[in-house]
Amino acid sequence: MPPLIIVGAGQAAAQLVTSLAQDGYTGPVTLLGDEPHLPYQRPPLSKKFLAGDLELERLYVKPASFYEKAGTELRLSTRVDRIERADQAIVLADGTRLSYSTLVLATGCRPRQLNLPGSDLDGIFYLRTIADVAAIRGRFGEARTLAVVGGGYIGLELAAVAAKRGLEVTVLEQATRLMARGVGPSVSAFYEALHRAEGVKVITGAKVLGFEGRERVAAVLAEDGIHPADLVVVGVGALPNVELAEAAGLSVDNGILVDAECRSSDRAIYAIGDCTSQVHALVDRKLRLESVHNALEQGRIAAASICGRPPPALQVPWFWSDQYDVKLQMVGLSEGHDQAVVRGDVKRGRSFAVFYLREGQLIAVDAVNRAPEFMLSKQLIADRARPDATKLADETVAVKDLRN
Ligand code: FAD
Repeated sequence: MPPLIIVGAGQAAAQLVTSLAQDGYTGPVTLLGDEPHLPYQRPPLSKKFLAGDLELERLYVKPASFYEKAGTELRLSTRVDRIERADQAIVLADGTRLSYSTLVLATGCRPRQLNLPGSDLDGIFYLRTIADVAAIRGRFGEARTLAVVGGGYIGLELAAVAAKRGLEVTVLEQATRLMARGVGPSVSAFYEALHRAEGVKVITGAKVLGFEGRERVAAVLAEDGIHPADLVVVGVGALPNVELAEAAGLSVDNGILVDAECRSSDRAIYAIGDCTSQVHALVDRKLRLESVHNALEQGRIAAASICGRPPPALQVPWFWSDQYDVKLQMVGLSEGHDQAVVRGDVKRGRSFAVFYLREGQLIAVDAVNRAPEFMLSKQLIADRARPDATKLADETVAVKDLRN
């Protein structure tokens, strides 16, 4: 029998291999990835690994011996160019053709590129891979001024690491507030104040027009003026790697469309992780999530389906971000909330939680250095709980008693 082939050796793929083994899959598995590394965790790339506080080996989800033991053939630095669905085969960049019994696309995302005057100057970087970190870190030593284009969580984490290293950092965000896609307005305001307190210059409503410099970047040109920068990192979102799927005629709509079992429009092809778009049962609408939690969950779901087992229980989506000494944990999706209840003080200190409710039902929480509130909220949201808003805001009520 031809192997089960996984395209893309990232976080979702590593979970799939793990779950297939746990679910008793005994057929051959081939894992192909175009990076030279074993599947690794990306979150530390803008946090501890960027700061130099984590060894490369610690990024790897599993050691090489794990894949050997699991009977998975690993082919790294190998790019897949084409899917030939009629023959259940894929074609590699070097022309090699491989047949599959089942195909799983786990191709992830890539950074959205800026196409502005000066975009190709030396010294302008994006942050997605280990190679990107090596390039950025290589410039940390000589750089004095860093401009971060984009005030999303990746740009802000990088800004925090660079500020701690003593660089003069400017964050330029086009929207009127930071992390606007992920958190509510009061949390954005907290992060703006936090970065300013740490010495970072934050400019919201910024329109970047281009980059200046001879060969190397020297400044960012924005509508409000020129911002000196001998290093620039752009973090303006990511695009799903859907080209293989699209060319093969699979249904794609801001991600490879998959059903509840992570099957694409072709029953022999699954897709998992950042590259997918799926109706999430808990919110009843199509989502393309870019998170470790989603990559792990979809890896488990696809493995169960491939092995003919019942799917694991769905969890509420969650996410985290580390900036300075502040851990942000977000659970649920706050879009559509009609009430935001704050527990703690957003303006003083570095610890509070914001609960988002719709018609009395808790739908999301942004917890800033508030692990207990985050843990409880995961369960409350899954249970579609309707906690008492007055109690949520009352710090004299213990977290365990917030359930109502
Ligand atoms: P990936 O991990 O991107 O893996 C996909 C792999 O497929 C890549 O190696 C890609 O090169 C390869 N590939 C693509 N096309 C082909 C092809 N044709 N042939 C062969 N290989 C191919 N999430 C959180 O929840 N919390 C965080 O704090 C957080 N921080 C992050 C910080 C950074 C800097 C980044 C970049 C991401 C962060 N994320 C975070 C997001 C998280 O890392 C992703 O959601 C997760 O990696 C998705 O896993 P994946 O397997 O779908 O994709």
